[in-house]
Amino acid sequence: MKSRENRTKIIATLGPSSCDPSTLSQMIRSNVNVFRLNFSHGDYEWHAKAMREIRKAGKELDLPVCLLQDLQGPKIRLGEVENDQVWIKTGDRLIITTDSVLGTPERISTDYKGLTEDIQIGQSILVSDGKIELKVRDIQGNGIETHVVHGGVLKSCQGLNLPETHTSLSSLTEKDKQDLSFGLKQDVDWIALSFVRGPEDVLPLKEQIRMQGKSTRVIAKIEKMEAIQNLPKIVEAADGIMVARGDLGVEIPMERVPILQKTIVKECNRHAKPVIIATHMMESMVASPRPTRAETNDVANAVIDGADAVMLSAETAVGKFPVEAVRTMYRIICEVERGVDSIYDKDHSSVPNSPTLLSDRLIKSACYLSRVTMGKGIVGMTQSGYSGFKISSFRPKSPIFVFSNSRETLRVLGLAWGVRAFYYDKRVSTDETISDVNLILKKAGYVSNGDCFVIVASMPIGTGGSANMLKLNVVS
Ligand code: PEP
Repeated sequence: MKSRENRTKIIATLGPSSCDPSTLSQMIRSNVNVFRLNFSHGDYEWHAKAMREIRKAGKELDLPVCLLQDLQGPKIRLGEVENDQVWIKTGDRLIITTDSVLGTPERISTDYKGLTEDIQIGQSILVSDGKIELKVRDIQGNGIETHVVHGGVLKSCQGLNLPETHTSLSSLTEKDKQDLSFGLKQDVDWIALSFVRGPEDVLPLKEQIRMQGKSTRVIAKIEKMEAIQNLPKIVEAADGIMVARGDLGVEIPMERVPILQKTIVKECNRHAKPVIIATHMMESMVASPRPTRAETNDVANAVIDGADAVMLSAETAVGKFPVEAVRTMYRIICEVERGVDSIYDKDHSSVPNSPTLLSDRLIKSACYLSRVTMGKGIVGMTQSGYSGFKISSFRPKSPIFVFSNSRETLRVLGLAWGVRAFYYDKRVSTDETISDVNLILKKAGYVSNGDCFVIVASMPIGTGGSANMLKLNVVS
């Protein structure tokens, strides 16, 4: 297997620019770890074909790839407008109605029928990523009279953001439920839920997954003010977090996003939950072969903040340079990881009263032991993946090698910082297992005679309990 150097993983969103087999292969070779399938776009035929092609390319290249299904969630949209776009002038009056009408500069429909009940006079409605701002002046029947604070071009079916309004929408829509069933049948590795407000949005999705006989992990997308207020509980309820800066920066004052990004990353690291920094990372690469210097800094800062993964959206979905975007991101990540020591050896405190407290401390000790012995790696033997996520959360400088007899677990760990995954399904004694691990790592060129590495496992090995064994191993 070819060795990838990046510890911070790369997620690429698939779209028309990247779904042909040759581009996919090049992207995987350029070190994409996870492909995101955005269910706001595309039909099932398109997604099924894309997933087949991704898996085929990964297999041919013998490089692991992980699939992330991103559910659209309750995105509120405008209806169709005349000629697909209308000009809204600053200072004008605009009616937003829940009736189905073809939009004009005076009156535009929305698909959210409950809007007149949820919104209040004085609240803002934002369109086009916040470029157009409307203030609610009156609510009459099915219509909301607004004052155009900032005008601009308004296109058919654009999304609406309601930063000051508590909406009564469920975060799992009927479309999401159907998309979820489709995704589970396709065996996606992660499912992202949009517009999460609290743990009460995450738990029903987990229940739906369980009812369909699966245990697919859930990522909560943080893109609403309510999610910020409920962050600790969401981190606890979800298996991973995405800082969805596109909507987040519209739903809350955008100047708050940089500090929140750091707070969210810290909270996720402490709970050993992978965290993704998403959106606009290298947006200019949609049209240009090079990112701006500010974008380069943004990727670098996300790596320094401690993200598990950085995500490309439009850059790879509809951009002109999908492969270059991945290569550039990879180069930035590797350069920062070589040069910045503060990324490594996190000493975050254990979560008190955690049922995994003992094994968490054992894993922390493993990371310490590897550091002081200049170990060539930390090996985690895991069934559920927990040890893999936990080792990763301490960000050890030594490489992380995770062995599992579950291919599903290995794919899921594709999102975790620094984890390199190995399939191992022999049920033999602890000594034999360690000797096999020695051989596998030696053969792959990661260790040689005289090197030492640390192993954490649960004994008896292969029984799936929490980690309770720590061994310093010298390669011979
Ligand atoms: C975002 O808003 O940043 C995001 C990732 O969500 P989406 O692309 O689904 O709008």
